[in-house]
Amino acid sequence: MSKVENFLTSEEEQEIVAAIGKAEKNTSGEIRVHIEKETSASAIERAVEVFQMLNMENTRERNGVIIYVAVKSKQFAIYGDKGINEKVSDDFWNCTKDVMAGHFQNGDFKQGLIDGILNAGEQLKKHFPYLDSDTDELSNEISRG
Ligand code: CA
Ligand code: CA
Repeated sequence: MSKVENFLTSEEEQEIVAAIGKAEKNTSGEIRVHIEKETSASAIERAVEVFQMLNMENTRERNGVIIYVAVKSKQFAIYGDKGINEKVSDDFWNCTKDVMAGHFQNGDFKQGLIDGILNAGEQLKKHFPYLDSDTDELSNEISRG
């Protein structure tokens, strides 16, 4: 399970993309998933880098969220843009991380990502409700390093 290509089947990947679409029906926030093999930096530092690399600050409310996974390093992190951080406390993502970590420890990466994504959508909804004028500002496709 150390190869990024084998981390998720294409069916699993499509289920994850569908979960992002579903989560984004709850909130104006935009969620992306990035998966790569390993990171020499901490997961959160790398999440910030990837967030910038993917131009995820390109949202009207600055409410993009990246779920970053380094497969071989067995690390993950969640990072939200400044629009979110201005409104929430530092422990905002702890609940989402706990949900994910539980599944990851059991080796169920697909379910960890799906439940994490749906949980993030519920969390974001409190501060960034879905708007009728919503557009898909950031792609729901999984990004790979
Ligand atoms: Ca949207
Ligand atoms: Ca999106």
